[in-house]
Amino acid sequence: MLRLTEIKLPLNHDENAINTAILHKLTLQPEQLHSVTVFKRGFDARKKSDIQLIYTLDIEVDNEAALLKKFAKDQHVKPAPDTSYKFVAKAPATLTERPIVIGLGPCGLFAGLLLAQMGFKPIILERGKEVRERTKDTFGFWRGKALNPESNVQYGEGGAGTFSDGKLYSQVKDPKHYGRKVMSEFVAAGAPDEIMYVSKPHIGTFKLVAMVEKMRANIIELGGEIRFSSRVDKLHIDNEQLTGLTLSNGEQLYSKHVVLAVGHSARDTFQMLFDQGVYVEAKPFSVGFRIEHEQSMIDECRFGPNAGNPILGAADYKLVHHCNNGRTVYSFCMCPGGTVVAAASEQGRVVTNGMSQYSRHERNANSAIVVGIDPERDYPGHPLAGIELQRQLEALAFKLGGENYHAPAQLIGDFLSGKPSTELGEVKPSYTPGITLTDLAQALPEFAVTALREAIPAFDRQIKGFAKADGLLTGVETRTSSPICIKRGADYQSVNIKGLYPAGEGAGYAGGILSAGIDGIKVAEALALAMLDADSAP
Ligand code: FAD
Repeated sequence: MLRLTEIKLPLNHDENAINTAILHKLTLQPEQLHSVTVFKRGFDARKKSDIQLIYTLDIEVDNEAALLKKFAKDQHVKPAPDTSYKFVAKAPATLTERPIVIGLGPCGLFAGLLLAQMGFKPIILERGKEVRERTKDTFGFWRGKALNPESNVQYGEGGAGTFSDGKLYSQVKDPKHYGRKVMSEFVAAGAPDEIMYVSKPHIGTFKLVAMVEKMRANIIELGGEIRFSSRVDKLHIDNEQLTGLTLSNGEQLYSKHVVLAVGHSARDTFQMLFDQGVYVEAKPFSVGFRIEHEQSMIDECRFGPNAGNPILGAADYKLVHHCNNGRTVYSFCMCPGGTVVAAASEQGRVVTNGMSQYSRHERNANSAIVVGIDPERDYPGHPLAGIELQRQLEALAFKLGGENYHAPAQLIGDFLSGKPSTELGEVKPSYTPGITLTDLAQALPEFAVTALREAIPAFDRQIKGFAKADGLLTGVETRTSSPICIKRGADYQSVNIKGLYPAGEGAGYAGGILSAGIDGIKVAEALALAMLDADSAP
């Protein structure tokens, strides 16, 4: 199999154009080309009137060796690498100990799935409910019902990314192609095939819910066990070796091999880990607001006359600005054609995030516009001080919103000119249960407000209309990533507690669904090999 890269074709090319381009590039006759698979498809939209699709193609041809020799100097004609996944271990039938996975977000899901596929019969513990029950609680909260602190956007089967845009791309280095394993498992569970090849795949909320259920069934079929409403409240540690844990109902489980994949919002669990002496460090994260514009404006700006083309879909953006006060402002978790969602997991706090459906057909585009903060400057002195800062900002947002889980919001124009908003413009807020117009400058530290006021007009120079007066800001965005890192060593185990495998976003080793899934695979492999070692020790 050969891999051709950088095959460029016009956006609306006909169906034969790919084959024609291959034959032309390699000077082949049609009968010499046996198969073509699209491995990746991206696009270059720098010239809006002439958007190009860029393909990476895997092909089978006559006499590959001769072609490789002929094109030896061409960086875009190479042998296709083997990206298939190979298991690193297989559990012996005699193995008696069962590994435990704490948390059933993407990280725990993939750690659990891989362990099950290798025969280790994991026990997976999730504090929240199974995904259908959780959907009722979460959507109920968005419709004005009470917040369930154990079943919400952050907690429950599928983890934080379940009610999301389901973006599946990441910038992590992936030399072992674990990302392909994540994608192929998602496709097996019902994700559209295109996620295997489009450059910025996404799934959307409703598809994710069904996929998570299928993956759960698969784990159980392979001998795994999944327990919901099972919060881990205590670790058993004997001489720096983990030996088991206690659940919220008092039940005790024993294992010397435990994946800790609790996500970035498990603040009580972080406190428990700290109190029990697990080594944790404060780490940087970001704070800011969600910004909403009409999606049509973003499409027009990115794609010009090609706006609305189904291959391009709803346009996204990625923006960064380095401010005069030394801060960096950037867009994060951009959700084209989506909605801003209430993402609180604690009573009396307001937090924003974003989600969309697969179609991305909602009227507004939203993204977090956030300012980077770090422990040295902004929350020094204690490893958990970042959590305290998050809580303060979320409680302040709750107050500014009217103490009923409505989010404080302001028109962009009013925010930039420093006056409270009293009336909405053309951009209608998508956040439910509702918003309260106010002065958002009160919602964040002064340096962050100054930075945002500088960055938004700067972004307008890249996306015309970004600083549009009636665009909307909703606050606050505080959970861009974990405020702590649960340090692990090269063996993937906690640096001071053997047998504990901190993983995923909460531990500081992932940011997003794909990277959390990849980290789950890595940790499952390390844990499986360690269990085999322990099992064969004399
Ligand atoms: P989580 O998904 O947070 O899962 C952790 C799980 O552990 C939770 O289910 C929790 O209930 C459980 N848990 C916590 N404490 C305990 C305990 N003590 N005992 C038992 N269980 C426990 N990322 C993307 O890549 N693309 C997107 O489009 C995207 N959109 C998002 C939209 C929203 C609304 C949100 C909230 C997040 C979004 N993200 C997105 C981020 C993404 O969801 C996270 O990066 C990812 O879910 C992290 O995976 P994880 O498994 O490490 O942690």
